[in-house]
Amino acid sequence: MAGVGAGGRAAGGVPAVRPDLTALVGYHSAQVDVAVRLNTNESPMPPPAAWQRALAEAVGGVEFNRYPDRGATALRRALADSHGVGPDQVFCANGSNEVLQSLLLAFGGSGRTCALFEPTYTLHGHIARVTGTQVAAGLRRHDFGLDLDVVARVVAGSDPVLTFLCSPNNPTGRADTLDEITTVAGLVPGLLVVDEAYGQFAPSSALELRASRPDSSRHVVVVRTFSKTWSMAGARLGYLVADPEVVAACELVALPYHLDAVTQLAGRLALEYVDEMNARVAAVAEERGRIAATFAELPVESWPSDANFLLFRPTDKEAGAVWSDLVASGVLVRDCSTWPGLSGCLRVTVGLPEENDRFLAALTESLR
Ligand code: PMP
Repeated sequence: MAGVGAGGRAAGGVPAVRPDLTALVGYHSAQVDVAVRLNTNESPMPPPAAWQRALAEAVGGVEFNRYPDRGATALRRALADSHGVGPDQVFCANGSNEVLQSLLLAFGGSGRTCALFEPTYTLHGHIARVTGTQVAAGLRRHDFGLDLDVVARVVAGSDPVLTFLCSPNNPTGRADTLDEITTVAGLVPGLLVVDEAYGQFAPSSALELRASRPDSSRHVVVVRTFSKTWSMAGARLGYLVADPEVVAACELVALPYHLDAVTQLAGRLALEYVDEMNARVAAVAEERGRIAATFAELPVESWPSDANFLLFRPTDKEAGAVWSDLVASGVLVRDCSTWPGLSGCLRVTVGLPEENDRFLAALTESLR
């Protein structure tokens, strides 16, 4: 029949999106034009000036008419050296979200399940669903720690090919202990993906588990990003450290030349500024302590954090009203109050001292 294509749709129309996607709401933080943006957990500090100069100089040598190094060889070698592993254990992508997506494309998909424990980073479940992967969700404890009985039950009931932990956990802040992660690693039938986007703030890392027990931790995958402590959210660079078989699987699904030449350079050069990165972590941790101390004097419930943000719940006023008051004062925080297990909660990213002052003053005013 003329003008009618496959499936009986008229030619020229836009087909309906996949029916399993229509229930998904995109993951967006409100983009409000305010002076103090403390809603997306970026570093408040720019990268080191010396890094910016080195990058500008190196970009002059990029052959822009050529595709970038498809294997990101130099960057992977530098990352591998920094973690004491081989380059075949490192996969890099455009932000850790793309790393997570690669894992789900390679190991998830139709007929497969991943497990996660809420409240946690909502993109784990979101990307899973976009890739057609089923999600089996358990709840964290009331204090947001991992409930190992729940983990065991969810894992036994769903046989997940991927199990996600986020440590330190976004948005609740606390890192899971190495003992807990080791226990979970002993329970899961598939890969254990530990998202360490905020790992440099934490007292321990699942990388230690991979290093100390190489035989029993081959299925442990550690995901990291340059977006937070490295002050490079604008460059979009993340990576994982895992068994070479996991790296090979991610390479199978990555698009050719997905990681551009400038990003590769930016990441490799950043690794020469570890001291500056550590100084940023220390400065943020100090400011985090100051914010937490002020919370203790206000009508808010708050939770300890091993990251660059704090979760808090105003006790005498509705979270949405507090959020609006803060915006009216030029301060944007994240409203998490509709997320599973987080009713009434807001999350603030630690900013520069003067930004934190402004946040604390606006919060005090709102709660007065
Ligand atoms: N994982 C977690 C836990 C995060 O909080 C974020 C950033 N919000 C990401 C991954 C993604 O970071 P990126 O894609 O910028 O590397």
